[in-house]
This record gives sequence, C-alpha cells and structure tokens, in this order.
Amino acid sequence: MKTIFTYIRPKMGQMSVQLLIKFSGTVVELLLPWMLSVILDTYAAAGNRKMIWVWGGLMTLCAAGALVGNVVANRMATRISRDITKNLRRDLFAKITQLSAGQEDAFTTPSLISRLTSDTYNVHQMVDRMQRLGVRAPILLLGGVAVTLSMEPVLTLVLLTALPLLGMIVFLVSRKGIRLYTRTQQALDSLIRRAQESMAGIRVIQALSKTEYEKAQFDGDNQRAVQREYKAGLLMNLTNPVMNLVLNTGLTLVVVVGAFRVNAGATQPGTIIAFLSYFTIILNALMMVSRLFVMYSKGAASGRRIAEVLDAPKEMNILSLPSKDRTCHIEFDRVSFSYAKNKNDIEGICFSLKKGETLGIIGPTGSGKSTILRLLLRLYDPDKGTVYIDGKDIRSIPPKELYAMFGVVFQNDFLHAGSIRENIDFGRNLTPQQHARAAQMAQAEFVQIPINGFDRQIASRGTNLSGGQKQRVLLARALAGHPKILLLDDSSSALDYKTDAALRRALADELGGTTKIIVAQRISSIRHADHILVLEEGREIGYGTHEQLMDTCPAYREIAQVQMPEAVLQKKERQG
Ligand code: ATP
Ligand code: MG
Repeated sequence: MKTIFTYIRPKMGQMSVQLLIKFSGTVVELLLPWMLSVILDTYAAAGNRKMIWVWGGLMTLCAAGALVGNVVANRMATRISRDITKNLRRDLFAKITQLSAGQEDAFTTPSLISRLTSDTYNVHQMVDRMQRLGVRAPILLLGGVAVTLSMEPVLTLVLLTALPLLGMIVFLVSRKGIRLYTRTQQALDSLIRRAQESMAGIRVIQALSKTEYEKAQFDGDNQRAVQREYKAGLLMNLTNPVMNLVLNTGLTLVVVVGAFRVNAGATQPGTIIAFLSYFTIILNALMMVSRLFVMYSKGAASGRRIAEVLDAPKEMNILSLPSKDRTCHIEFDRVSFSYAKNKNDIEGICFSLKKGETLGIIGPTGSGKSTILRLLLRLYDPDKGTVYIDGKDIRSIPPKELYAMFGVVFQNDFLHAGSIRENIDFGRNLTPQQHARAAQMAQAEFVQIPINGFDRQIASRGTNLSGGQKQRVLLARALAGHPKILLLDDSSSALDYKTDAALRRALADELGGTTKIIVAQRISSIRHADHILVLEEGREIGYGTHEQLMDTCPAYREIAQVQMPEAVLQKKERQG
C-alpha cells in the first residue's frame, strides 16, 4: 500500500479541500433531525407558527446547502481519483515496458494485463469511495452517537452495546475479504490468459475443430472466476443483513424503552422521533462503512498486485566495466545460460564476427538458436561468459545505445495495427525514400503498387497479410534504419527460394557494413555465410564455412543431404 500511497500524496491538498466540504455538508446534515426535534417539542407544542416557519426555512436552507456541498465534493472526488488512476496506470505501463524478459516470464503477460486494467480499476474505485464515504460515514456514525448521547443518554446506551459487535464483524470480514479478492484476481488472470491464447490461435482452433474443447476450457476458467467472485461477494453481502439485524433489534429496543420513558414523563415524543431519525442515519453510516470495507478489500488486494510490479527491482543494470581492445565486432566468449536456472539451455557458446561478416545458425528445434539472439540483445544476461560488442561487455552499454545498433526480425514477430508505412517506420521518422529502399531490399514489391501500397492498413498482428507478405514487411522494418547489426530469426522461411536468394543478394549489396546473424532452417539461406554455427541441445557441434562443415560435421551434412541432394552429389562427384 505504501507504493499506492505515493500516488495519493501529491493530491493531498485537493483532497483536504474536498474532505472539508464533505465534512461541513455532513455536519449540517447531522443537525437536521435535531432541528426537527426543536420545532416539534418547543414551537409546535407552544403553537408558535412564526418560529416554526423560521426554523423550517432554516432546515430547508441547511438541507439544500448540504446537498450542494455533497455534489461539489463528489465531483472533486471523481476528478482526483481519475488523476491518481491515470498516473498510476501510466507508471505501471512504463514499468511493464522496462521489466526484464525474466521478470516478464515470472509475472506472465495475462497477469500484467489484468494488473494494468482491472486492478487499476479496483484501486480507482477504492480511492473514489474513500473520498466520498471515508469522511462522511465516520462523521455520521460518531456524530450521530454524540448527538443522541446529548439528547437521550439512556437510549443511546442501548445503541452503544451493539457497536463493538458491529466493529468486530467489519474487521473480520474485511480481513478475509482481501484474501478472497486476491484469489478472484488470480482467477481473472488465467481467464485472460485463456482468452488471449484462444484469440491468437483462433484459426488453428477452428481448423482442428477444437472449438468445443476450447469453449469447455474457457467455461471452466470462467466458472472458477465467477465462483471466487461469488464467494467473496457472498461474504461481503452477508455483512449488510447481519448488521441490519443487530441494528434493528436495537431500534426495536429503543422504541420500547422510549415508549416507557415518554409515558413516565422522562422524555418527549419529539425527541423519540428525532432519535429514530438519528438511528436511521447511524444505520446508513454503518452500511457505508461496510461498503467502504468491501471497496477497501478489493482495492488493497489490487493495490498490492500493482505494487508488486512497480516495486520489482530494476534488473539489467548498466555496469561500469573496462572495455577491451578487440578487433571483432561481436563476440560470444564461453557463454552459458539457463532460463529456469536448472539445466543450461545454451552452454559454452563461442564465436566472433568482424564488422560486415555474416553468421548463420542452424540446428534442430529447441537447440538454443533464438536464445543466442536474445542474449545478444540483452533480453537476458548470461549465467556464465560474456557477450561483447566492439570490445565492450554489453552489460556496460546503455540500453538506448545498444538497441540503436540492431535491426531485428524475431521468430513469430508481429505487426501493429496501422498502415504498412507506419509499420516500417516504427516511430523513427524515416524518409519516404528510406521506406521505399527498405521495401525493395526486403523484396516487398507488393507495397510499391500505387493504390493501397504503403497506405494499406494492416490488421493487429498482421492477420490480413499472407505469411510471406508479413515476413517481407517485417524485414523492411528491420532494414529501414540501416542497422549496424542485423538479426534475422527464421525470417525468410515463408519466402520462396528465388525471393530468398534475391533478398540475400540485396543484403550483401546494400548492407555490406552490417554484421548479420541469420537463424535459418534452410541451408540455402546460410550457405554463403562467413561462418556457420551448428547447434544441438544448446551446444556447438560444428563451426566453420559451408565447405568445411560438409567435410567435418556429420549433422550438417545430413541436413544438406535432405535439403539439397544434388549439391551433395555434385560435391561427391567432384571429389571422386
Ligand atoms: P526453434 O527452432 O524452434 O525456434 P530455438 O533453437 O530457437 O528453437 P530456443 O527458443 O533458443 O530454441 O530455446 C532453447 C531452449 O530454451 C528450449 O528448450 C526452450 O524450451 C527453452 N526456452 C526458450 N524460451 C524460454 C523461456 N522464456 N522460458 C523458459 N524456457 C525457455
Ligand atoms: Mg527459435
């Protein structure tokens, strides 16, 4: 809650004004039944019409004043809580974008989404309600008790015996409530995850006739979320009737005791009527308090979840390390890394590339190809060994400087909703010539068509483009900034062989100074690379040029044999 409070603190000034208005309005409201008792017992009994009018007018004025004050204060409260939520959401989003890949894995994306949406909403509701009712309810409650105490101490004692019991109920319920609402939000996390996965894979689900299965899965999660919310709601809603019961019992007692006292001449009927009004006020105030506790339970549970993200330690710090005198552009020095920190996902990887050289990486699925690129981008830090760029340990390079070097196409990369031009530009304010050049290099002729070319709208994730078109736009995006380092992770797999070859030629011609790392499944995509790294289960099983590997690496030769038997045959013939 401390973290959430730092967002409330700057608004304290405004909040005090709001609370003061609320306070004054509530105090005036509290005086109304007392005024009624004065009219009834003093002036009505004596038949003083003039004073009845005067006090009646005063009552109306006070009621109107209290109403206006309440409306003004509530409007202020809405504005204040809106601002607080806006800042909170902005910072939370900023923090999420700065989380390290490891932290993101730990929180999970769906959970981050629900923290950004429904959790901030709960905090908003809490802050809003606290301002609306936080002052009003206690004043009505305590003020009501104080006024009744001064009017009729004996009757008030009846009421007071009920209060500790009510206090206990509120305390116990809200403590349990926070736990229940935390579990509800967790259920919501998995519901969002399910929805997200189903949306992403909707085509596959339909194609494999898995719709019913997915529906059943979703229903299960939905049911769980609803049940938890229901359980929490049930507990919270139980407080109202129980409080009602306790209070109404007290009310009945007051009427009975009051009747005896009026009969005995110890008090007046007007006092009893005012007393009943105060009783209703106190009852309502207690209801407000219990509602406040519901909001608080929800808001506190959500606030804690938000704070977990906001307070997540900054990983990937910039270290000050001396740079070495090296001639190579990129170097991996005995790098090992494990995601789960149990078994190494890559182990002892070594290679070095001079400026402008190309490294091809090939290997079976799950062998660590993408992991090498992630380490070079410093999405994760290696457990052992070092990654150097220009002789500098990449942990000593500021992120801005580091990321400015790269043009990347990730495996299964995605496009944003927007025009093709916007996707290629990616907020870098490049010139139309640069866009056109990049599109040409990426063999994306289809965007050059005058009508609808660059301005063609892409749907979110690029669902309205073909696989090959998507890859070409992604390639154009990576190439447009003329990066120093180009990373392509399986990004020409949807291109036909001819286009793939044209792409390689364009890269060689136009990006001669760019160091390239190309992950591919096809040997043809990397056979001309200066170095080829063959991976298996995170380890290097071959390193060299295509020719060298054909002689020395059986695994590589096997892949080549399957993919281009003629080439292998020709080579054998030449040797024979
Ligand atoms: P592919 O050809 O299928 O893309 P790859 O060679 O790129 O495979 P990597 O993505 O580098 O494989 O994964 C290497 C290993 O690390 C795999 O065993 C994978 O299960 C594991 N792995 C990858 N990403 C994560 C992650 N975020 N958390 C935990 N384990 C991961
Ligand atoms: Mg991969």
